[in-house]
Amino acid sequence: MGIIKVAIDVPVPHLFEYRDNTLQMGVGSFVLVPFGSTKKVGVVFEQIEKGSYSRNTMKSVEKVLTLSPLGTEIISLIEFTSNYYCHPIGQVVAAFLPSYLRKIKNTNKYNSTAYELVLDRCPSVEIDIKTASTSTKRLIGILKEKSTVSAAEILEIDSRGLNKLQEWVSDGWVKKNQQFKSENFKIEKPKFKSTIHSGNARSLTEEQILGVKKISEKINKFAVWLLHGVTGSGKTEVYLELIKKVSKKRSQVLVLVPEINLTPQLEERFKEKLPSLRIATLNSSVSEKKRFEIWDRARDGDVDVLLGTRLAISVGMPYLRLIIVDEEHDTSYKQKDSLRYNARDLAIFRSRERGIPIILGSATPSLETYKNSLDGRFEKISLKSRPNVGLPVVKLVNTRKKSMSLSLSQELIKEIKIRLINREQTLIFINRRGYSNSLICNSCGWLSECFRCSARMTFHRNVAKLICHYCGYKKDIGNKCPECGNVDLYGPGEGTQSIEEELVSLFPEARILRVDGDTAKTRQSFQNMREKIISGEVDIIVGTQMLSKGHDFPKLTLVGIIGVDRVLYSSDYIAPERLFQQLVQVSGRAGRGSKGGKVLVQTNFPDNYIFQALIDQKYEAMAELMLQEREIADFPPFIFQILLRAESKNRSKLYGFLELAALSAKSISSKALVYEPSPAIVEKISGRFRGQLLIQSKSRTELSRLSLKLLFAMHEKKASQVKWVIDRDPLGI
Ligand code: ADP
Ligand code: ZN
Ligand code: ZN
Repeated sequence: MGIIKVAIDVPVPHLFEYRDNTLQMGVGSFVLVPFGSTKKVGVVFEQIEKGSYSRNTMKSVEKVLTLSPLGTEIISLIEFTSNYYCHPIGQVVAAFLPSYLRKIKNTNKYNSTAYELVLDRCPSVEIDIKTASTSTKRLIGILKEKSTVSAAEILEIDSRGLNKLQEWVSDGWVKKNQQFKSENFKIEKPKFKSTIHSGNARSLTEEQILGVKKISEKINKFAVWLLHGVTGSGKTEVYLELIKKVSKKRSQVLVLVPEINLTPQLEERFKEKLPSLRIATLNSSVSEKKRFEIWDRARDGDVDVLLGTRLAISVGMPYLRLIIVDEEHDTSYKQKDSLRYNARDLAIFRSRERGIPIILGSATPSLETYKNSLDGRFEKISLKSRPNVGLPVVKLVNTRKKSMSLSLSQELIKEIKIRLINREQTLIFINRRGYSNSLICNSCGWLSECFRCSARMTFHRNVAKLICHYCGYKKDIGNKCPECGNVDLYGPGEGTQSIEEELVSLFPEARILRVDGDTAKTRQSFQNMREKIISGEVDIIVGTQMLSKGHDFPKLTLVGIIGVDRVLYSSDYIAPERLFQQLVQVSGRAGRGSKGGKVLVQTNFPDNYIFQALIDQKYEAMAELMLQEREIADFPPFIFQILLRAESKNRSKLYGFLELAALSAKSISSKALVYEPSPAIVEKISGRFRGQLLIQSKSRTELSRLSLKLLFAMHEKKASQVKWVIDRDPLGI
């Protein structure tokens, strides 16, 4: 009789012990176990001889649901994620695996699997038998001895046996026989042959060829490649070429894209360029059932290219030979709640484990990635020019000395007029939805603050409401001050709605479209708007960052950027880096068609180095300057951080908890720097106070040790009424 340690989806950072009477539950098996007064599904992570409780009180596993559906790769990814991000392993399992997997009871898919040796590929070629472990030798022994071996037989020999078998299957000298396949899911081969995009047979530019060549030379090794290419330089073409190359052998490729970038446009381009490959796409709008089916197919090697957002990181791919992370700097790779993992970093972990290359593509690499390339840890490839058209011309409009009655400057208005005459499109980028920042009463001084949050509510004029962008609270306002009845309300700062209104009065004939979180609430409505823009039914678009990434609008030749100065005052050290990334992205929308593009940036600070760098896309010089500033101030990437984030309705309990955590952290490590607890940037949301404790160290290992110990220590303290989580490598503080 053995004992197994099981991960269960509860906020407790350890595994639970159960008796296993069957001795069949290999690592990764799904089991049903009694838990308190209920039953829960758990995943086996360890088999041990001696448990920490007496055998009599230890409960037994109720039922085995599926035997080892997870390969070693995903098991080690889950273990690494749990340790690195200090998150209970059962909750990592819940976040990473499709919930559908836990709902299928007793599917015999894995239980009825049998393995056999592929005779013409002798294992002694693959493995040096002399150095193999005893259990590996026995596994090979039994495979040689019998014609087929069942999963159960393998698990009797080695609890991780099925995971090894899965690898040998990928290596091609063991064959797997399986009856079960889900019937209702097919990955369609593309129906159409390309006629739409005429550039199908074009040749790569010299820069592209060189990039492909360098990466191809080391295609079977672990290496992190930074593909630094200006927007529109043809990075996607480089990815496609490399996918074609690795696909000559049996292989799988994982392509990660930011959430917003996963447009049908990209999917179609992949399907068109890779007609013989089975391509699946995965994002948060895919149903749990479909997600499970993709997961299942990929794990069986039946998906060749998986194109997905961050959640695709946990899909098992036994033939994985290449990982691509497009727009690697994008913050949507980082999960913003509970398990705060960064899919880009986990992708690097996966490629290191497997010994395969990973490509990080970006026009504006994150500073940590850029530093890694300077330090020689990552290899850099540059694409400096656009193959078709030149880069857009960037012009700064100094708004400081002008007394402006409008938000749009005369220069910008003049350029829009030219576009209207030429029937070209303009995009006005403003990163705030709504009408104005807030409302102020000129008579009594009333300010539109949200009563649940420490934030101002934004005025939305079209519905005559104040809306809190943090908690969603809406308040009818009419046009009177709620305190004194005064109708002279003042709304400082512009938003998408006030810009739209200004444009309507300036250009009454123009067709104007506003694209923001209010007008494009659903994926479908956003899609419809995109199509309207592409088909030329729109002259001027007013939009937030929703439109800044990855879209190709051939008729768009002018981008106006307004209202960005406030980012320069942000207290967050990461804000300038984000601003530059955003400016480059949105500028990159101009002139992607045959005509060149122009970008006008309205600012009070035209001398600021961020705007200067934008003029000729001098990324390197600017990044080096930013890195110097970070080094002097002891900020990442020169140090590593964790942020203990906590929230509570009760302010004193919140700070009591954070004080305790600070003391605990100091006693765990004298080498790390433990700051004082502080309020979060927005201190109160929906009536809950939010506070944080920042801890940093120059040593990643030391920080790992400290964070895990802190996790266990604070868990022991059982803080009541306080919700908390450790945020490793936070994006800004
Ligand atoms: P990125 O991914 O760097 O933004 P894309 O791969 O989307 O760039 O390429 C931008 C545009 O240039 C696309 O319309 C693409 O079809 C075109 N393009 C890319 N490479 C070439 C090439 N070698 N010759 C001609 N056009 C190209
Ligand atoms: Zn008033
Ligand atoms: Zn609020």
